[in-house]
Amino acid sequence: MNEMDMRRAIERKRSGEELPAALWEEIVGAYMDGDIDDVQMAAMAMACVWRDLTVAEAAALTRAMVQSGDTLSYPAGTTVVDKHSSGGVSDVVSMIAVPIVAACGGRVAKLSGRALGHTGGTIDKLETIPGFNVALSMDDFVAQVERVGCAIAAQTAAFVPADKRLYKLRDRTGTVPSLGLIASSIVSKKVAGGASAFVFDVKCGEAAFMKQPREAVELARALVEISAQFGRRARALVTDMNEPLGRSIGTGIEVIEARDFLRGNEDMSRVRVLCVQIAQTMLALAGIEDGEDKVQNALDSGSAYEKFVEMIEAQGGSRAGFEAMARSPHRKELLAERGGLVEDLDTVLLGNLGRAWSSGDPVGGIRMNVRIGDQVTAGQMLAELYGEKADVQAIKPAVVIGDQAPPVRPLVYEIV
Ligand code: URA
Repeated sequence: MNEMDMRRAIERKRSGEELPAALWEEIVGAYMDGDIDDVQMAAMAMACVWRDLTVAEAAALTRAMVQSGDTLSYPAGTTVVDKHSSGGVSDVVSMIAVPIVAACGGRVAKLSGRALGHTGGTIDKLETIPGFNVALSMDDFVAQVERVGCAIAAQTAAFVPADKRLYKLRDRTGTVPSLGLIASSIVSKKVAGGASAFVFDVKCGEAAFMKQPREAVELARALVEISAQFGRRARALVTDMNEPLGRSIGTGIEVIEARDFLRGNEDMSRVRVLCVQIAQTMLALAGIEDGEDKVQNALDSGSAYEKFVEMIEAQGGSRAGFEAMARSPHRKELLAERGGLVEDLDTVLLGNLGRAWSSGDPVGGIRMNVRIGDQVTAGQMLAELYGEKADVQAIKPAVVIGDQAPPVRPLVYEIV
């Protein structure tokens, strides 16, 4: 493909045409070979934002991206599940659901990303555990899944390199929010990861890529349909991201929250509901029966916690280091200036502050004491702020107190 061919392809996409699968393969191949440059690829990405992709186009783009790099595989007859979140704030689900599923006899292989914008990344969080190695070789990763039942590691450079390049370009050019581009970016990484079944947690709300339930459901359907085209069983849950999922926002302090939850010392009803539902869905896809009882038992007996520790030790961390993790000694409080109802939480701002305060201080960040809809009195503590950079003035606008009862939103909008 040369520059003129690419120009013609951009024009066709710009005018709303569905491009054939072979053309998507040529485009990705030419981009990776340097025959077409970032300028033309950015124009194509903008045409995709403008016109979006059909499911057939997104599947073709997914296939081309998978073929751009290394792929993993597991021995025949082994069912391995993977779980993916489209990105949230205080999203501790992976650190909880993955060991639960492994403790129930499932095998989970999770190659995870880093923080993106205001949303956290599981890899950045796990890296705060003393000694924990996120950079496993792909052979070690596969072997650990077999031996321990679960592994969570970073994607290597050779893993879907076309997505890495395209994602960076989309980030720079304001072309992330295309349903088809997002779906192919996500599914390409899951397919290359080699699992046989996927559970997607599609976040929906002010702090998610998908703001409205309708578009989040559309993305959920696309993820499941594209996965099916690669012979993978998949389910997607559309879940609320108008407020932080858990209480802690940062990196290490989210690990502490997940640890304390798995030890039964943290009362977090929303986190529990979502983790249990996601773990049960993963078990069902793995063909493991009685998921509900098994998940409950893994939490009550502490076996999910022990599995988390086993995974940490397998990846170079120590139980003692993990169990000694504590929130930063630099602590401030955000107090309510008036009484009333928590009308809104600016979750994007909270996510950005949590990231900022935990950068350079892994146990810095935020711990929320209120949720949307809570009744508060003047002087009540709304949030604890941790870390040397923590700043009460900066977080003040994130908690809106008024007299209006906010809308009641479900935690899980739909399951596809
Ligand atoms: N997450 C991804 O992996 N890719 C996207 O394009 C958006 C969210």
